[in-house]
Amino acid sequence: MLTPVPPPPAPAASKPRILTGDTPTSTGLHLGHYVGSLENRLALQDSYDCYFLIANVHAFTTLAEKPDDIRANTIGIVKDWLAVGLDPDRSTFVLQSEIPAIAELTFLFAMLLPFNKVMRNPTLKTEIESKGLGDHYSFGFPMYAVGQCADILAFRPELVPVGEDQEAHIEMCRDVALKFNQVYAGVGNRVVPEEHVKAGGVFPIPRAKIGRIARLPGLDGVNKMSKSLNNAIFLYDDEKAVQKKINKVTVLPDPATGMVSQDHVLLKLCDAFLPKERAEAIRAEYASGKDVMHGHVKAELGAAINTLLAPMRERRAKLDGEQGDAIVQDVIRRGVCRANAVAEETLYAAKKAMKLDFGKRTVG
Ligand code: ATP
Ligand code: MG
Repeated sequence: MLTPVPPPPAPAASKPRILTGDTPTSTGLHLGHYVGSLENRLALQDSYDCYFLIANVHAFTTLAEKPDDIRANTIGIVKDWLAVGLDPDRSTFVLQSEIPAIAELTFLFAMLLPFNKVMRNPTLKTEIESKGLGDHYSFGFPMYAVGQCADILAFRPELVPVGEDQEAHIEMCRDVALKFNQVYAGVGNRVVPEEHVKAGGVFPIPRAKIGRIARLPGLDGVNKMSKSLNNAIFLYDDEKAVQKKINKVTVLPDPATGMVSQDHVLLKLCDAFLPKERAEAIRAEYASGKDVMHGHVKAELGAAINTLLAPMRERRAKLDGEQGDAIVQDVIRRGVCRANAVAEETLYAAKKAMKLDFGKRTVG
């Protein structure tokens, strides 16, 4: 039997807000998410009014023909959030497809962004390249960058904890918010971003908060660790799978120097998951040109990652199966109510500023 869940507490109006999220393009999250964004979410969960968004509509940009996968991935990612320690009683979990204000703001923001500026967005360019999208991506693909501005601004947050790959998107979001406030809310060109709300702006100008590791490389050593590139260690990977993946990383000397590069992915993973002094000692050994036993380093790294993941795996296992799915459904339902209350308020303020307010509506 599921224990009944108490109604959500009212959003903490006095706390500053955070919005961030993940796209359900895979059944779970990986170590890059952990060091790039989840750690910050956990650390800030009490001091901020947090909104964590699952971008299930944006998952259709690359998986349009796989709705079953997107649904399963959505449930898997919410389970990972719970397993990591994000708390739906303290924070609001937002399912993008259930928040109509986000879709409406996307359309309104699209009018404020020059088309060529969107197409030049470096994050989009990198994704098109690394995901092999060539020139056959959908119209909706670049549109998701505009949509992400709406995901964020619908909640009027101050901070957006993300990995470095998202910086260009946050910059675009800041541009839209600045422009909107200037065009529709009479905020002067000279007003600094921090003062926009005080000067009558509808939107605060949010800042990115980059994680402890800005960009964790993938096991391929080429791209960032990514759900879609088959180069990730997932939070739900079992001990053996973690060690096996690490063992597969090739460690070859750089032909130019005859030594293993200090930029090698194995060393970057050591930086991220071993104590600082130990990671530095390993770097020094490689730099000295000595014959380092890669196998020992890999075993130490695998053990450290497994220690980090063990409690998460335990909590994730408890959410397996239909009972876990039902818990997720409930968490989503509660989050949607709270999120719509905030997003509708934002949309109304934006429409009012745009002279589009012809009466308030109620969204459940
Ligand atoms: P996809 O391959 O489908 O784009 P992804 O692995 O990039 O998936 P996202 O859902 O796009 O994951 O990203 C969610 C959050 O995690 C973002 O804030 C992003 O910056 C951060 N993030 C993702 N990968 C990394 C990484 N390798 N290092 C640091 N942060 C990361
Ligand atoms: Mg991504």
